[in-house]
Amino acid sequence: MTAKLFYDTPYAKEFDAQLLSQSEHDGKFHITLDRTLFYPGGGGQPCDNGTLNGVEVIEVIERGEDIIHITNESIEGKNIHGVLNWEKRFEHMQQHLGEHLFAGCLWNLHHIHTARMRIEGDNVSIDTDIPADISMILEAESSANEAVWKNIPVEVIFPAMNEIKELARKLPPENAIPPVRIIKVEGVDYVPCCGVHVSSTGEVGLVKVISCENHRGGSRIYLRCGRAAYRWITSLYHEVRKAESELVCGYDGINDKIASLKSQIHSLKSQNEALTIRYLKPLAESLLGNAEICGQYRLVTHVMPNSSQDEIKHLFKLITDNKDVITILAGENEEGVFIMAGCNKENKNVDVRPAFRKMIEILGGKGGGSPFSAQGWGKNSEAISEAVNEAVNILKNNVK
Ligand SMILES: [Zn+2]
Repeated sequence: MTAKLFYDTPYAKEFDAQLLSQSEHDGKFHITLDRTLFYPGGGGQPCDNGTLNGVEVIEVIERGEDIIHITNESIEGKNIHGVLNWEKRFEHMQQHLGEHLFAGCLWNLHHIHTARMRIEGDNVSIDTDIPADISMILEAESSANEAVWKNIPVEVIFPAMNEIKELARKLPPENAIPPVRIIKVEGVDYVPCCGVHVSSTGEVGLVKVISCENHRGGSRIYLRCGRAAYRWITSLYHEVRKAESELVCGYDGINDKIASLKSQIHSLKSQNEALTIRYLKPLAESLLGNAEICGQYRLVTHVMPNSSQDEIKHLFKLITDNKDVITILAGENEEGVFIMAGCNKENKNVDVRPAFRKMIEILGGKGGGSPFSAQGWGKNSEAISEAVNEAVNILKNNVK
């Protein structure tokens, strides 16, 4: 049986203990001590890390009345000196109480239950039983921070079951054996919990909601608390400073600048499109004028070097606006060959796909589409002429 020092002295960083047992399992060592400061994890809080006689503790688990410290190396001696990774443990204590404050406020204000919580790295995630909208979430966040600033003492109590049933925001599990450990923050929260917490709300520092999403009929809310919240705000600060410098404005002007840049991009795109169509029109007219006659249709084929996908699409549109035309267009650039095959969509008895598939096969590419419009990419640009010729032959056979 291991005495749980982490409950009696949650702020102790080092301890002395006696080795009770040490055994090897799959290359790892399982060590039990008569007492420990290492929290084995539970209630959403991860286990502690640190060292035992200088040997790294990689995981801690609870088995019955024993707490097992798992290491990669064996430990010398019977007298053990344990040292916690205190920075990490303190962050877990801040995060765990921060979660209680937020969940307590969400319950008090909106009667929304927390079905599950988990601390993972800098994130605390909370799953609620019913959806919480953003205004409810921000209200709970604000209320949780008010509780932080009041610096309320955190009480660990073991009340009678009838009191727990009356006051707790959440009932202990059915199989819980009394006495049940309650974490109480006067006026804010009263909940059964096996975790390790800071001893006053002020030590949480800050509770900040980061994001929320729909999750299994409720909401999953991500929070940062304490030092993890400070790290997040510091990273936001650096990002915002970069944006201010790039956009040449203060942080409160960033959104206006983005809106103005988006509208500039929009108008430049329209101008670019108009110019592209203007210079492609004479080419389209000349190609249509020189088209090969294929039954009741005109057949237009063209390979355009150093061209973009957009240029080919515009040329395709200019050509297929004519109802009696079938076309095969290819554009070459350093990325490969972009091909389009099609006709006006009113031509119900034309299907360009067999010809298009042949081109894709020859060019070693990918693509697809409908009977009147197919597009794709190929890699073997040296095979363009062959691909176009083959496609033309297929079209000539299919279209009478
Ligand atoms: Zn808890």
